[in-house]
Amino acid sequence: PLILGIETSCDETGVALVRGHTLLADEVASSVDQHARFGGVVPEVASRAHLEALTPTTERALDRAGVTLADVDAVAVTAGPGLAGALLVGVSAAKAHALALNRPLYGVNHLVGHVAVDQLAHGPLASPTVALLVSGGHTSLLLVNDLATDVRLLGETVDDAAGEAYDKVARLLGLPYPGGPPIDRAAAEGDATAVHFPRGKLGDGSYDFSFSGLKTAVARWVESAQGDGEDLHVPDIAAAFQESVVDVLTAKAVAACRDHGVGHLVISGGVAANSRLRDLAAERCAEAGIELRVPPARLCTDNGAMIATLGAEVVAAGCSPSPLDLATDTSLPVEQVLAG
Ligand code: ATP
Ligand code: MG
Ligand code: FE
Repeated sequence: PLILGIETSCDETGVALVRGHTLLADEVASSVDQHARFGGVVPEVASRAHLEALTPTTERALDRAGVTLADVDAVAVTAGPGLAGALLVGVSAAKAHALALNRPLYGVNHLVGHVAVDQLAHGPLASPTVALLVSGGHTSLLLVNDLATDVRLLGETVDDAAGEAYDKVARLLGLPYPGGPPIDRAAAEGDATAVHFPRGKLGDGSYDFSFSGLKTAVARWVESAQGDGEDLHVPDIAAAFQESVVDVLTAKAVAACRDHGVGHLVISGGVAANSRLRDLAAERCAEAGIELRVPPARLCTDNGAMIATLGAEVVAAGCSPSPLDLATDTSLPVEQVLAG
């Protein structure tokens, strides 16, 4: 079946068409430039941008795929988690398509979509798979028995998300928003051993994460260097910060695989685009005999393909469609793949 996927949970308007594990089109319009000067996403600005972008983005995706709306067999949309007004734009449009086309509607979980999208690059996920989800708003370890029906939460951040830590530390270092890509680039020129920042919750035996202490440690370091009139060596601080983040992420992901006897790990979400995370995860998984999968960088950040792929998965699993009065859920739990 041909699945139309719509994503509007944050600041990317994504529309994609997927058949099985084949991606026919994936168009993304981002309002990130409109938020940059605020150092974070402004919800009202994001909602308006989705309203303006959704129709042209849908038309581009249909053109690219060489199909029309009449060819669509099912409509999948992000029902949550995300920003209330932003989610509402996508869900309203998806309902309108489903009603007008007389096709089933599936309100799906954005976070599970981040994991599902890897199937476009690497085929069906092994079962079970441990998933490390690292994004702007979430940092979670999942045990995925079945993408459509059985996703379990093993642990998550108790404070900041990994991407949020990148964004906040970038700001401290005078780097632009969003902070992940510029820190990734700066770190490549720096010495990660120049400073040793704390490793949040490493060695506590849990699968939970904490990044706010690290952020505070970087802030103190920057303040004291500036107070002493020292030159801030941004590449070194970026590299040392990044090493602390990826050390904890990879150690806990490998521990979750080992403890659950699982030989497969997938890393996804915007921070999975990080080059040092990808390298260290590959190294530690190779040592531990774990098969690692990470989607290509362009599929790691928000897009419609992740939602269309998860839509294809729930259709294939025979899940019941969502009602046409489907509600958005700004804090939809990750274990709830389909919104009710
Ligand atoms: P969520 O999925 O939790 O709702 P989101 O959709 O806003 O949040 P994503 O789009 O998945 O998050 O990811 C955005 C985050 O990824 C930002 O915090 C950004 O800084 C981070 N990011 C993007 N590229 C990189 C990179 N190369 N290194 C580290 N972080 C990165
Ligand atoms: Mg974004
Ligand atoms: Fe996301």
